[in-house]
Amino acid sequence: MTVPSVSAGKVVLVTGASSGIGAATARRLAASGHRVMLGARRTDRVAALAEDLRAAGGEADHRELDVTDLESVRAFVRAAQDRYGRVDVLVNNAGVMPLSSLDALKVDEWNRMIDVNVRGVLHGIAAVLPLMRAQGSGHVVNIASVSGHRVDPTAAVYSATKFAVRALSEGLRQESRDLRVTVISPGLTRSELAEGISDTAVREATEDMLKIAMPADAVAAAIDYAVGQPAEVDVSEIIVRPTAQG
Ligand code: NDP
Repeated sequence: MTVPSVSAGKVVLVTGASSGIGAATARRLAASGHRVMLGARRTDRVAALAEDLRAAGGEADHRELDVTDLESVRAFVRAAQDRYGRVDVLVNNAGVMPLSSLDALKVDEWNRMIDVNVRGVLHGIAAVLPLMRAQGSGHVVNIASVSGHRVDPTAAVYSATKFAVRALSEGLRQESRDLRVTVISPGLTRSELAEGISDTAVREATEDMLKIAMPADAVAAAIDYAVGQPAEVDVSEIIVRPTAQG
């Protein structure tokens, strides 16, 4: 990995950086010369990734993060400020997808999706908004999904959370003249996301669909593109999916 000068790099916080799209984003953005702060509950994973990125010449740190807990998200943002002096970009990536039909009444899983995918994003916004307003600049990148554009059986609640992410992003964009707001909506992507599906039949069907999945770095490249645009250019939304996905 060739790393450009980090002095020009932005300070980028990535939630859910312990696997999949978040980990790929941390790798790609560090390789682009940004200074990254990685957060997730599995601290061994984010610690090892941060170490890898530093060994490759990048600037990276990590902190334990549970996005369902506002204080944890605030502490994550403070840690980045203490380490790097500012926060330029927050990538609200952490998410869960325990798909099931509504008839299965997996209410705990519905609530978990709302807590991580919606409240988690709101907590991220709450934690960075005051300091980005004070800086007069900043960039919030929210990871939605093609499921934020369409609804499929077993994905009603997951889709609802991703429609919500798009609504929140559009609201934040309309209320902001100083911040950039980007929604990234990935299609089928290789990651650990399907491992959280407790319904065996739904999980097997999802794993079958994921045979055509694209690598997580394809999503990371879209994020890197949005982050790399000039300050006066806001890439508001990108959908990126496998060519073979219907
Ligand atoms: P992974 O399961 O590989 O990654 C999910 C990440 O979220 C993990 O790093 C996990 O870390 C983190 N996470 C989950 N709960 C919490 C929490 N409470 N606090 C902090 N971090 C948490 O899946 P993906 O990489 O695929 O998912 C990333 C995002 O992409 C999600 O928002 C997902 O909805 C979205 N997406 C994925 C698609 C796909 O096909 N894979 C398609 C469309 C969108 P840890 O468990 O260590 O806390």
